Amino acid sequence: MRLRIKIILFTFLALFLLKAGEADSFTGSVPSHNIRIEFDLKNHTVEVVDRLIINAVDKNEIKFSIHKNVSIRKISETGGMDLHYFIRDGKEKKDVTVVHLPVNKSVIEMDIHYTGRFPDLPGDIKFSREFLSDKPVAYAGEEIILLDGSACWYPCMGRFTTFHVTTVTPTACETVMEGTRVSREERNGVTTTSWDFPHPVEDIYLAGGKYIVNEDTYNNISIYTYFFPEDTGLSQGYMDYSKKYLELYESLFGRYPFSKFAVVENILPTGFGMPSYTLLGQTVLRLPFMVKTSLGHEIAHNWWGNYVYPDYRKGNWSEGLTTYTADYLYDEMEGKGASYRNQLLRDYTNYTYYSNEYPLTRFVRRENPADRAIGYGKGAFVFHMLRQMLGDEVFYKGLRGIIADRGFKVASWDDFRITFEKVSGKDLKWFFRQWVEGAGAPQITVGDLKVIPDSTPVSHPEYIAGSQNMHGQEIPKPVRDDKNNDPKSGYVIKAEILQKGVPFEIYLTVSVETERGSILSSHWVRGSSNTVEIRVPSRPVSITLDPNYDVFRRLSQEEIPATMGRFAGGNEKVVVVPPHSGKDLAEAYSRAASILGGSLKIDTPLLPSSIKTGEDTVSINDKVYDRNDSVLAVTLESPYNKDAVVVFLAGNKGEDIVSVADRLVHYGKYSYLLFLKGENVVKGIWEAGKLRRDIHEN
Ligand SMILES: [Zn+2]
Repeated sequence: MRLRIKIILFTFLALFLLKAGEADSFTGSVPSHNIRIEFDLKNHTVEVVDRLIINAVDKNEIKFSIHKNVSIRKISETGGMDLHYFIRDGKEKKDVTVVHLPVNKSVIEMDIHYTGRFPDLPGDIKFSREFLSDKPVAYAGEEIILLDGSACWYPCMGRFTTFHVTTVTPTACETVMEGTRVSREERNGVTTTSWDFPHPVEDIYLAGGKYIVNEDTYNNISIYTYFFPEDTGLSQGYMDYSKKYLELYESLFGRYPFSKFAVVENILPTGFGMPSYTLLGQTVLRLPFMVKTSLGHEIAHNWWGNYVYPDYRKGNWSEGLTTYTADYLYDEMEGKGASYRNQLLRDYTNYTYYSNEYPLTRFVRRENPADRAIGYGKGAFVFHMLRQMLGDEVFYKGLRGIIADRGFKVASWDDFRITFEKVSGKDLKWFFRQWVEGAGAPQITVGDLKVIPDSTPVSHPEYIAGSQNMHGQEIPKPVRDDKNNDPKSGYVIKAEILQKGVPFEIYLTVSVETERGSILSSHWVRGSSNTVEIRVPSRPVSITLDPNYDVFRRLSQEEIPATMGRFAGGNEKVVVVPPHSGKDLAEAYSRAASILGGSLKIDTPLLPSSIKTGEDTVSINDKVYDRNDSVLAVTLESPYNKDAVVVFLAGNKGEDIVSVADRLVHYGKYSYLLFLKGENVVKGIWEAGKLRRDIHEN
């Protein structure tokens, strides 16, 4: 799951209110809030005074949005007269009203007194890897406080602000916010806590609850967990992993930009990342993989997104970069980089097509699997290809350069280009134009193949004929196996590389499998047809394009196994079910088909030999299960339609079948699944082929 949606939500409001370029200049003109908020949690009410200082009023009017459940008592100039204001309904958002305040000076300090009532806790928030709920929450109750800046619980002006907030709560309740906890005091059953964030931030999120707070430090950074009593057992694990991630990222990116990092538990199944803390739902917090990937993802966001802010109007790069330096990097460190990249390409190939494609400059946030495939997947790949091209040292130098220049400021893809050009001394305009400003991805295949015996010795072991340097780039040295180099029995392979559609310029690795081992070489390829020449020392057997998935591209059919994701992304969806009897089953199957968005077909397709269905049993990989309690879902290459995938769905109980159909959307990467009494017990992926052609000597 990829978290962070909060900042992005705010942007929609911000887009209407921001003047172009405003976010770029923070020089002294950032408004500051000094808020004191007192909670009456039984009655869901708050009593607030916000001392708001605006240094550069640029019209005769100050305008801010505020939650519709807020009533303003008065607005006065600090130590002076009451100010007049009028209120209008918000045009862009129906949950806010807009307060207009005529003024005649450019610097103003005022006190806004208001009360608010926040009794509505949404009950239907769904959280999953694929789909996110996005309604900003404003709630204050005894079980939890969730005041999302996007809901405008304080006067929000759609621009960056600094803040100092003092919360007054019953002692059982602890609050947590962005930035540093500067004081905390308990007196007469009341806890007063102050939080300080002296840097420009996009919005302010206040969370609170009956937490047990644990604290530790790493390298002068305070690490907190704010967990409910029943989950304090998880605290140590979160602390330990947080330290590991901080250590990793300080070594890659430099000093952590905040004084603390806190993991805060939520009763809603959300996952948000705010500057210096993350808010994780209880169900999410308890998932074993949270500490292993998602926690690190959130910590990486404290450089990318929560410190260097994306310029959403020009494309949100922060999810791609965070995915690359977190989720992806962890797999790469375990030697599983190629398989992660393959998964990204699979998602992209399955979920995008011509009409839902868009360039990275238009990615704002993820709402569906296609957004994820582009904003996260393609975004991550852009950084991978840059790193391949520039090498680790220059790549990380570039990232540190961005951090040094753009901390607490917005950065666009263009800022990345300029920084990487500076550190590498190379012109990268073509690269960003192609991969960031342009939509789509190349689709490559092998065309004509010629093999010519050639006994010329391979005199420069690192140099492979066919490599071209098109942009003055230094080509990384290809890895090759030279120990079987026998100059007397060499061959030259002339391989035509074809690109479908508008051709891309790519740096393509080609593997030639020979009788005595494989040889890798890399080639610049552009145009619809290119022929590359590869000299190998022994008889070639086959050729494989991009064997390690280093180029962002649309995979060919042979590289993608049938999966739920491929089914979901297809055009003609058919759900195949076995012959059955009874009204219940018939109804269940037809409901399942409609949930999956497909038409129903009764048939007995040929299943792979690893799956066998008997009268009372189902067996997968030789393990036998009771068929009565099971639902089997298997994706297969369609027997009816070339290039399509069908789902074969079989069960004995109507309600189980429907419930499984409902949940299959969350299993996009899998080819086959077995559910027993509603629980997933088997899941697997068919093995996929490579983009390989056999070589026959001619
Ligand atoms: Zn993220």
